[in-house]
Amino acid sequence: MGGGGGGGRGVWFGVAAGCAAAACVIAAALVSRRVKSHRRWQRAAELVAEFEEGCGTPVGRLKQVVDAMVVEMHAGLASDGGCKLKMLLTYVDSLPHGSEKGIYYALDLGGTNFRVLQVQLGGKGSNILKQKVEKQPIPQELMTSTCEKMFGFIASKLKQFVEEDEESREGTIETRALGFTFSFPVKQSSVSSGVLMKWTKGFSIEDAADRDIVACLQEALTKEGLNMQVAVLVNDTVGTLALGHYHDQDTVAAVIIGTGTNACYVERTDAIIKYQGLLTNSGSMVINMEWGNFWTSHLPRTSYDVELDEDSLNRTDQGFEKMISGMYLGEIARRVLFRIAVESEVFGDVGSKLSQPFALSTPLMATMHEDESADLREVKRIVEQTLQIPDIPLKTRRLVVKVCDIVSRRAARLVAAGIVGILKKIGRDGSGPSTSGRPKGQLMRTVVAVEGGLYEGYSMFRDYVDEAIVEILGDVAQNIFLKTTVDGSGTGAALLAAAHSSNRKSYI
Ligand code: ADP
Ligand code: MG
Repeated sequence: MGGGGGGGRGVWFGVAAGCAAAACVIAAALVSRRVKSHRRWQRAAELVAEFEEGCGTPVGRLKQVVDAMVVEMHAGLASDGGCKLKMLLTYVDSLPHGSEKGIYYALDLGGTNFRVLQVQLGGKGSNILKQKVEKQPIPQELMTSTCEKMFGFIASKLKQFVEEDEESREGTIETRALGFTFSFPVKQSSVSSGVLMKWTKGFSIEDAADRDIVACLQEALTKEGLNMQVAVLVNDTVGTLALGHYHDQDTVAAVIIGTGTNACYVERTDAIIKYQGLLTNSGSMVINMEWGNFWTSHLPRTSYDVELDEDSLNRTDQGFEKMISGMYLGEIARRVLFRIAVESEVFGDVGSKLSQPFALSTPLMATMHEDESADLREVKRIVEQTLQIPDIPLKTRRLVVKVCDIVSRRAARLVAAGIVGILKKIGRDGSGPSTSGRPKGQLMRTVVAVEGGLYEGYSMFRDYVDEAIVEILGDVAQNIFLKTTVDGSGTGAALLAAAHSSNRKSYI
């Protein structure tokens, strides 16, 4: 009995021991999984923290970027060549002021789309009465064709547009001056002539090299039988400045933040050392900075930026642009997320699209960043649909948002530093001596026109720009206004054509 009892106890003991052992194994597995999961998270968190530190833009660093921008602006104005900022002359010395009158046409070529437009101006106090815009994508094959084909296409579209417009108005062309926005770097020799320096954005028309872009267009217009003269050749920043100035004459600079980024501003001719003796009626001229190529060692550069540059078609070029513009922000975030995926496995198996360059566009990055739902539903959807990573937990979604935030915040704060750099160069940042009899720090109202899909479509980005300007400038920021213009680059060219063909110019 005893033995049996003992045997029974033994069985029970055995079962109990077995259970305990199994429980131990399960517990050990759980602990090990938890430890692993903890380690994965630790690595992911480390990578995000490292990235955040690398992207740091404390106000002291932003001020160094501001000063470096001013130094580079001086260098670019002193000589051509050897400088990061080209500081190109535009020969624009008068900007529209609101009293232009008549019907004007313009062409806008430079981004993904081509636009033909007409604006009807009613004279003083009446603003833009009417505007017609026709937008269409540039046929891919034309982007690498010949001057004749490209400009022939543009001229035929303009002719069609003008004819339809005349029919609807039951009138003929009143004004012959045409505005032309051409957003590639051009070495201008007058306000209505210039030679292309290089093609960008996927365009490559070889026989355009060393040819006057306006002459190419003018030839095509004549062939179409269109009796119009190209009155102004501008890029998108100058067009944006012109529209900004038309609405608000305190506008002194314009910034584009779209696929790429650039800026222009009004400079005194005596500060343009490289063109000594240059005379304008106003004593001022708009300078196209080509600021996408700005660089200084003060920029917060991470290993992801270095790798993005190495893998790009234009290595060592456009350093500022690669940290700021719509073409790159999503890609920087993708690179960070990919490394996290490889090193921490928080995204599960890395067989996803995350490894594919440019798989995450900037608008999608913005949508994830701005997801306000409690469970970050949009983040889940985009990660699933675009990056093909199913079902990530809330904790991982938060990490994705954090990465987007770091990328966007750095870009916006650098834009702010660039803008303050311009303001400092022209004495509107409150640091220089007062020129208007006002006490130091009290400044004239200053407006900067801003345009581009990234800036327009991404409100958190805009908020970060504003916030950083206030941080850098303190109270002076109360006098600084960033104003968004829509379709400004084309409309601005039409307005400039009006301003340049009118008898009453408003010199800047
Ligand atoms: P382009 O620079 O070709 O003239 P846009 O000014 O319209 O064109 O800018 C388009 C760029 O802006 C796109 O490449 C995209 O990266 C970015 N973008 C557009 N919409 C948004 C958005 N909602 N959020 C963030 N970025 C956007
Ligand atoms: Mg554009």
